[in-house]
Amino acid sequence: MSNVKRVYSFGNKKAEGNGKMKELLGGKGANLAEMNLIGIPVPAGFTITTEVCTEFYTHGKDGVIAMIKPDVEKAMKEVEAQMGMEFGSTTNPLLMSVRSGARVSMPGMMDTILNLGMNDQAVEAVAKRSGNPRFAWDSYRRFVQMYGDVVLGMKPQSKEDHDPFEEIIDEMKAAKGIVNDTEFTADDLKEMVARFKAAVTKQTGKDFPNDPWEQLWGAVCAVFESWMNERAILYRQMHKYPAEWGTAVNVQAMVFGNMGDNSATGVAFTRDAATGENIFNGEYLVNAQGEDVVAGIRTPQQITIEGSRRWAKLQGIGEEERKAKYPSLEEVMPAVYKELDEIQNHLETYFKDMQDIEFTIQDGKLWMLQTRSGKRTGEAMVRMAMEMLSEGLIDEKTAVLRVEPAKLDELLHPVFDKEAVAKAKVLTKGLPASPGAATGQIVFFADDAEAWKENGKETILVRIETSPEDLKGMNAANGILTARGGMTSHAAVVARGMGKCCVSGAGAIQVDYKARTMTIGDVVLKEGDWISLNGSTGEVYEGKVATQAADLSGDFGKLMDLANKYAHLKVRANADTPRDAKQAFAFGAQGIGLCRTEHMFFEGDRIKAVREMILADDEQGRRKALAKLLPIQRGDFEGLFEVMEGNPVTVRLLDPPLHEFVPHFEKEQRELAAEMGVSYEKIKEKVEALAEVNPMLGHRGCRLGNTYPEITEMQTRAIIEAAMNVKKKGIPVHVEIMVPLVGNHKELKYQKKVIDATANEVFAERNDKIDYLIGTMIEVPRAAVTANEIAEVAQFFSFGTNDLTQMTLGFSRDDIGKFLPEYLKKGILKQDPFQILDVKGVGQLIREAVFKGRGVREGLKCGICGEHGGEPSSVEFCHYAGLNYVSCSPFRVPIARLAAAHAALKQEK
Ligand code: PEP
Ligand code: MG
Repeated sequence: MSNVKRVYSFGNKKAEGNGKMKELLGGKGANLAEMNLIGIPVPAGFTITTEVCTEFYTHGKDGVIAMIKPDVEKAMKEVEAQMGMEFGSTTNPLLMSVRSGARVSMPGMMDTILNLGMNDQAVEAVAKRSGNPRFAWDSYRRFVQMYGDVVLGMKPQSKEDHDPFEEIIDEMKAAKGIVNDTEFTADDLKEMVARFKAAVTKQTGKDFPNDPWEQLWGAVCAVFESWMNERAILYRQMHKYPAEWGTAVNVQAMVFGNMGDNSATGVAFTRDAATGENIFNGEYLVNAQGEDVVAGIRTPQQITIEGSRRWAKLQGIGEEERKAKYPSLEEVMPAVYKELDEIQNHLETYFKDMQDIEFTIQDGKLWMLQTRSGKRTGEAMVRMAMEMLSEGLIDEKTAVLRVEPAKLDELLHPVFDKEAVAKAKVLTKGLPASPGAATGQIVFFADDAEAWKENGKETILVRIETSPEDLKGMNAANGILTARGGMTSHAAVVARGMGKCCVSGAGAIQVDYKARTMTIGDVVLKEGDWISLNGSTGEVYEGKVATQAADLSGDFGKLMDLANKYAHLKVRANADTPRDAKQAFAFGAQGIGLCRTEHMFFEGDRIKAVREMILADDEQGRRKALAKLLPIQRGDFEGLFEVMEGNPVTVRLLDPPLHEFVPHFEKEQRELAAEMGVSYEKIKEKVEALAEVNPMLGHRGCRLGNTYPEITEMQTRAIIEAAMNVKKKGIPVHVEIMVPLVGNHKELKYQKKVIDATANEVFAERNDKIDYLIGTMIEVPRAAVTANEIAEVAQFFSFGTNDLTQMTLGFSRDDIGKFLPEYLKKGILKQDPFQILDVKGVGQLIREAVFKGRGVREGLKCGICGEHGGEPSSVEFCHYAGLNYVSCSPFRVPIARLAAAHAALKQEK
């Protein structure tokens, strides 16, 4: 154990670590080392590794201190030598900063302590050395405040309480008639330190530590502990970072930006993180320390003249006033600015990415405290990648990998105006089911959404849950909010398909259809009230929040072309209407992987014919009704084939249980009875007879086609006739007929017989032929494990991972919301298996099915059409599982294309 290196020194253009060691040294530590190696001025220091953080949680505080003490003491000696000061000296004290640094940046999640080493003796020496007692005492009081908060737990006692230190500051301000912190004199600050320390003794029962080494160990362990604080845990959960990573601790000599008007501190970006524009930008404060810039107590000034002018324009400040009151660093300290500009250029060129940098100017000397790849918006991410490519800074593959697929979403949907949303009141939160921003007046019924739209009104459809009957209303509304349902609930799937904003499963909402109200806690909203939804975060806001349309710039198209160049997987869309298909095609879909034909049944008067078919007494009655549906379906299929111009179109035969289509309320049942010329009682009886205890496992999927083959006949005829009509127009067609919910190869065999017989009938009638494939969905576990038998019949497989997840895990896709939050909290599940493919279970079945299927039918075409087909990590799995394509809702097509390219490029590496 003794030869494990736990502490890495850096300083004076030398370093034991380097920029590649992010896992061990954390992002900050690795880059501090690298900056030294490339000759950038960095205060000397050392990094305690992330492995020690893990050891901290197994060996405890004392165990870890014993383990690292000799190495830390040795590293501290090197810092002392380089800085010409001594840690713990009473005459020439070296002060240190202690900061966290995980392998990825987790801004603001963990703790930092500055000015460590300050005590009753050091403060006098610093006052003497700097000739600035106010600065010395201010540094001391900042240290006691930070250390008291982070290490000694001096937090407010309750939600209503003030921070104990801020309370003292406020009291002293009041007593001395002071408005601004900067007005405190050295003597005031001395008094403040004494009062802070007394507060510590009172609250903790222990005196504030005066010994610098005791301070240091306390701080180091507190940083390790902050890895497990609530917000860090939450942040990791949100970003799916494992707890095992741990944080490193960076202990570094202090440099001071608060030593007077020749000192300053700032934060800058080498490009604009919001827009991606290639412009150096950032903020600074003269005579300030570390966190002051972000704390927002004083208004920071812009670093460049250009930035300063833009800022002033926004504020409505004229040039003269700007120059006098808010000059840029470029104007105030031109020589230091020039050096900073050179360094930022150097850093971006060296790291080949936009850098987020922190710096301090101590008495006219510039020090760099941090550089890291800066966080950015989706828009900025795309622009920067494509501009850096054209500048020659990065190559094509790097440009593709630079853009996170999920971030593309921000570019595709309307978004909330940033300022407006910051001011909006959050009412509750549900699942971010379908991204985008929507605002409208509350309606509770689908037909109201339609009627209100006709009257020029904007609506949000609020439902306990949605059913296919609500489709038209969902289409008419700007957004959909449901109290129940998960990420693959009807509302979520349909909304994503439409590219419509949807928040589902907002469990805190009580919907009262009768009263036409929704209640959240003690807030009651009624029909007609305005609300806004953020489908990317799941937030529900009160009132009307302004939105702005997405702008798909040229860079987006260029990026998509590159993604296609490197991806192996093809990307198709789940689209049910020619309109969705058009949208998908515009986003680059290379075919349709799933057309859910039942979704076509809800438009216009079609539902009537469908109901007639379902409620018919016998085959003859069904055929009569089906004959009405035939031309309608044929027309829709023609539309799809035309839009897709010869790209494959997979049409799935009817899937859902029939009782979903019939009316459930007396009023509608009576209307239908009148229309069909039968008694209300008869309709009521029929509807009741169709009800199932467990419809998801009931009379649905190919079980419908096998019990009522005339449905399959009608649908096949519609598909084949449509394809032949389109072909006649000179447009190529590529037809794939897909049979749902097969679990036994004989189910498919029977359906194939009906399909082939019908197709041959049409060919004979028209004296012509077209090619078509018959395949199946693999969504029943038995189908996956008997894939060899099924592949004897099926010409392609499409994994329906919504049902396959439901049946493999035994979790109802509509009810998972009831226990998922608790399962996530307890760590029983790492993520929602309906969003992110369960690779171990469902994934194993997919691999097995692909292997067995291709064993029987060489090169069997395999795809996925469950919701996972548009989720980046699931797409990566599909790449490795050797699938040919993924299929997802139109608005996720670009994301899947990029994710497919990422998977291929990562495998190359
Ligand atoms: C599936 O089960 O994954 C699928 C695509 O079918 P549906 O969601 O329509 O059941
Ligand atoms: Mg299914």
